Amino acid sequence: MAFDLERLLRPHIRNIKPYSSARDEYSGKVGVFLDANENPYGSLTGEAFNRYPDPYQQEIKEKLAPIKGVKKEQIFLGNGSDEAIDLLMRAFCIPGLDNIILLPPTYGMYEVSAAINDIAIKRVNLTEDFQLRVEAILEAVDKHSKILFICSPNNPSGNKMDRDAIRYILSHFKGLVVVDEAYIDFSDEPSFITELDNYPNLLVMQTFSKAWGLANLRVGMAFASEKIIRILNLIKPPYNISGLTQQKVLDSLDRAAEIDNLVDIIRIERVFLEEELDKLHFVLHVFPSDANFILVRMNNARKVYEYLIHDMIIVRDRSKVILCEDCLRISVGTREENQQLIEALEKFEPIIKNL
Ligand SMILES: *Cc1c(COP(=O)(O)O)cnc(C)c1O
Repeated sequence: MAFDLERLLRPHIRNIKPYSSARDEYSGKVGVFLDANENPYGSLTGEAFNRYPDPYQQEIKEKLAPIKGVKKEQIFLGNGSDEAIDLLMRAFCIPGLDNIILLPPTYGMYEVSAAINDIAIKRVNLTEDFQLRVEAILEAVDKHSKILFICSPNNPSGNKMDRDAIRYILSHFKGLVVVDEAYIDFSDEPSFITELDNYPNLLVMQTFSKAWGLANLRVGMAFASEKIIRILNLIKPPYNISGLTQQKVLDSLDRAAEIDNLVDIIRIERVFLEEELDKLHFVLHVFPSDANFILVRMNNARKVYEYLIHDMIIVRDRSKVILCEDCLRISVGTREENQQLIEALEKFEPIIKNL
């Protein structure tokens, strides 16, 4: 199958000249910098925030590339994964004409971003156990289908998608396949990053928001061919990741070896929660999770949600989402938080019996 990136790209993007920032034209670190209209005296914070940050986050990419097993030219960093999702739509989808393919139930941002960009959505529901309906997906494709989003492990269901099914789609869909791996660190499944060389139409998204515990900083990663990454860098706002954020990400990458410990603790807590939830009489099904949250089907999910809110425990009500009827999505907390949740639910058991 021939993947033609030039053909996929919106025609006007091919001719865009990138904004050349002051920091692009001279990248040395020492000198008298009178090129960017910065305040030479510093700022009121007393910290060195007066200079514009590196627009391409080179130091981060140098540290991240060996960790992920890619070249640094294969990495894009965005203001959250949200930015990458939006840029992909703007690069490849013509408003009012092209469409993307979504596989509900899935992450809500794909749909929001498509709506903002006036891009049509074709939906192919997952199976009852949240796997890909490969043939139905490929049948939904038309000549205006530009991007297909596969979330694995999937939000809100928590499961990973069958690897061979993803491979089959990659080799039969002529558009871009985005594999969103926001939760991959919590899974035994290896990342699809290792398949980038085999599939020129593959883009893998990851994030610093979940396992890395940096949701507040807003840093998302995209891994793809150098050509695709060049396009994202071409159309992004020049200084999309602040210098303060870059520093904190660098500090975290210096301690990357410790991330496994963080993840292990969360996985242990996930098992604890799964077992405790399973014991509750009103719980109908605890879906297997490869993520840091659990989808749980129960009697009267909405009532349970409201009851928990009353106890100041906030979970995510997914009971109105397709294939998630009567389900709540519960993030794995600390042991103390998880115990508090379970105690609240146990207290609720006799009440729910009489509903
Ligand atoms: C949380 C999440 C992200 C991360 O988004 P950021 O903008 O990087 O915080 C991406 N994809 C999915 C499916 C998620 O659940």
